[in-house]
Amino acid sequence: MKNTTGTDRSITSKWRPATRAVRAGTWRSEQGETSEALFLTSGYTYDTAETVAARFAGEQEGMVYSRMQNPTTAMLEERIAMLEGAEACRVQATGMAAMTAALLCQLSAGDHIVAGRAAFGSCRWIVDNLLPRFGIEGTIVDARDNDAWEKAVRPNTKVFFFETPANPTMDVVDMRAVCAIARAHGIVTVVDNAFATPALQRPMEYGADVVAYSATKLMDGQGRVLAGALCASEEWIQDKLMPFQRNTGPILAPFNAWVVLKGLETLELRAARQSENALKVARYVESRVSRVLHPGLPSHPQHDLCMSQMSAAGPIFSFFVDGGREQAMAVLNGLELVDISNNIGDSKSLMCHPATTTHHNMGPEGRAEAGVGEGMLRLNVGLEDADDVIEDLAQAFDRAGV
Ligand SMILES: *Cc1c(COP(=O)(O)O)cnc(C)c1O
Repeated sequence: MKNTTGTDRSITSKWRPATRAVRAGTWRSEQGETSEALFLTSGYTYDTAETVAARFAGEQEGMVYSRMQNPTTAMLEERIAMLEGAEACRVQATGMAAMTAALLCQLSAGDHIVAGRAAFGSCRWIVDNLLPRFGIEGTIVDARDNDAWEKAVRPNTKVFFFETPANPTMDVVDMRAVCAIARAHGIVTVVDNAFATPALQRPMEYGADVVAYSATKLMDGQGRVLAGALCASEEWIQDKLMPFQRNTGPILAPFNAWVVLKGLETLELRAARQSENALKVARYVESRVSRVLHPGLPSHPQHDLCMSQMSAAGPIFSFFVDGGREQAMAVLNGLELVDISNNIGDSKSLMCHPATTTHHNMGPEGRAEAGVGEGMLRLNVGLEDADDVIEDLAQAFDRAGV
């Protein structure tokens, strides 16, 4: 393997983000392939017995088994790290594998975690149901309220965990303030940045320690594979994550890594265009319904905060129809172009009813507390012409009596 400039940080760290997205991490074989190679191999061979012994002893760099390392996944890890501005990255099988690893690798019985109220359903399940089974207590706070984070801190608090903007209420967390509270108490902040991706928001610039991804969303961006990623300092990755990851094995398959790697080449373009389309569609929806939750719109109560942290507000927003669940379902069933789907970050426009899908498991009380109403719809705006999406919504609203 020839180590070309894509992995040499003395060169790649000078590159601007668009260049990193296309080239960072590229590692060419002696064939000189243009596109990154797909290494479908579980194991590796060695010229001598001493070579493999040195690698197992950690005295020599090199691959030993694809649960630890694989050339294709290593290329993806380096590319995500460079886009994030992180020292290191490791990828996992899914976004939820990444979230679970990020928490379990550093928490023990007797520890305490503080987490944001509005969160992806499975993230809340981990904090509310899984961690308590292992003696890890959690406190849920309104993540928009900086004082609530401070007040929730206990002597045994080890982790702050939140997403911003949050799914599906589009609550925004003041990352600078919340990460500063964490730092002051020696608490590790884990930010789920799946909605934004490093193309739109880099939480480490505001003091986050660990940035967690569902790469299934905007990073793949074309609805093909599930994937997850964790970015952090080299020390955290080596000391906390790797002992957990190499022994429990939630790794990403090389094929899926390769798909995401190629997806990242167009991440910046897609994130910018989909954000632009979403804003245009949200302005139209705002003319038809009484409440739109889109942090890129001046009507969002945290608009200024959001725009100080993000370069654009992303492809996803939510809105409410007055006729509750029945009318929300009627809008979905009236769509002709936009698909009914609970996925997000896709290049196709997709809409879902969170109360009966992504947030169904929370139950009516949990949903009420998290602000997930019966009349709420969540829209991911894709790469279609925004006017076609608007026309489709217009006819679906008309038919549903919105
Ligand atoms: C989708 C999503 C996840 C889970 O990711 P998977 O890849 O589906 O496992 C976690 N957090 C957020 C904010 C998400 O949107």
